[in-house]
Amino acid sequence: MDARNNFRQSVLDLSPYSVSGHPAKIKLNQNESPFDIPADLKKQIIEEFIKINWNRYPEVFSTVLPKRFAEMYDLPVKSFIVANGSNELIYTVAMSIVKEGTDVLIPQPTFYLFEKVAKILGGNVLKVYADSNLDFDEAGILKAASAMKSGLVIIGSPNNPTGKSVSPEFVSRLLESTPAVVLVDEAYIEFSPHRSLISLTKAQKNLVVLRTFSKAFSLAGLRIGYLVAHPDTTFEILKVKIPFTVNPLSEFTALKLLDHKELFTERIAFLKRQLARMTDDLGKMAGVSVVDSHANFFLFSTPLPAGKVFEELLERRSVLVRDVSSYPLLGNYLRVNVGTEDESASFVKSLRDCIEGSPRTQG
Ligand code: PMP
Repeated sequence: MDARNNFRQSVLDLSPYSVSGHPAKIKLNQNESPFDIPADLKKQIIEEFIKINWNRYPEVFSTVLPKRFAEMYDLPVKSFIVANGSNELIYTVAMSIVKEGTDVLIPQPTFYLFEKVAKILGGNVLKVYADSNLDFDEAGILKAASAMKSGLVIIGSPNNPTGKSVSPEFVSRLLESTPAVVLVDEAYIEFSPHRSLISLTKAQKNLVVLRTFSKAFSLAGLRIGYLVAHPDTTFEILKVKIPFTVNPLSEFTALKLLDHKELFTERIAFLKRQLARMTDDLGKMAGVSVVDSHANFFLFSTPLPAGKVFEELLERRSVLVRDVSSYPLLGNYLRVNVGTEDESASFVKSLRDCIEGSPRTQG
């Protein structure tokens, strides 16, 4: 029997999620932090974790972190939903809103997961493409969003993979112009000059903001993401959420990290300086074009085909970046994230060698 006949057409049409996972010495392809949690802090966390009963379920929905966030942001505890990474929350929000034929406006190019989830659910994906500088077409987004009768608008700000962001003033205008729910994914906001939209959720019931510990907070491996919205809005979204997805180790670690904010403030400042240095270095290379970014990564193109640059960097020099040339508008672009000082410098040197065709260093 062919089991495939049972699957929904929207699922059969999808391709699997994959990240080019080649092992590499210098890994700059997933926008992670290059810095791990300090060993002494990890040890303290593990010692606490040993005392917890592993045979017991955690809370159905974590309240420990929401209580902490409520103090941090001066919002009600019920404004927050914590999950096993923000990817889970993208699914949860979409599942609570999108059904067959629902309009889902997704400015392009962006994080592919947004479109994937919308398509799984049978949503009608509406696309507004960025301008020639890869900036958001704000007028186009406002026009498309104001024509929607209901549904979902999903914006990454700063946006992966362009690094571009929208201002809080633009989002306020967007919220006024559409009855749809506006989901703003702020996975990289800590690197941006713009302030977070979280405080707007107090007054705006159709705004949902997503945040994650995976990038600026060095915690991609333990999976903590959270959502912020008006309590009336989280009330509906929470009905859809899978229970028990936040494990106590991750929850406790996230809490501990909030006690060490100064460490991350320093790291963020370092990474921002490093981004400026990398983009400056690449900008000086003949034929290389760099896209200004508000995140911990940026796009660049070179006179060589993106696929060739990707392979040269990986196979000859063990530097892993992301080839994003299959994304709309990104014909010859690659994406690289900021690494440690040494990693970033190695990437810059390897790219220069690759473009100038000088002798290869074996990776
Ligand atoms: N949103 C965006 C825009 C991202 O780029 C990523 C990571 N690739 C995520 C969400 C996923 O974050 P998390 O690790 O919290 O699931």
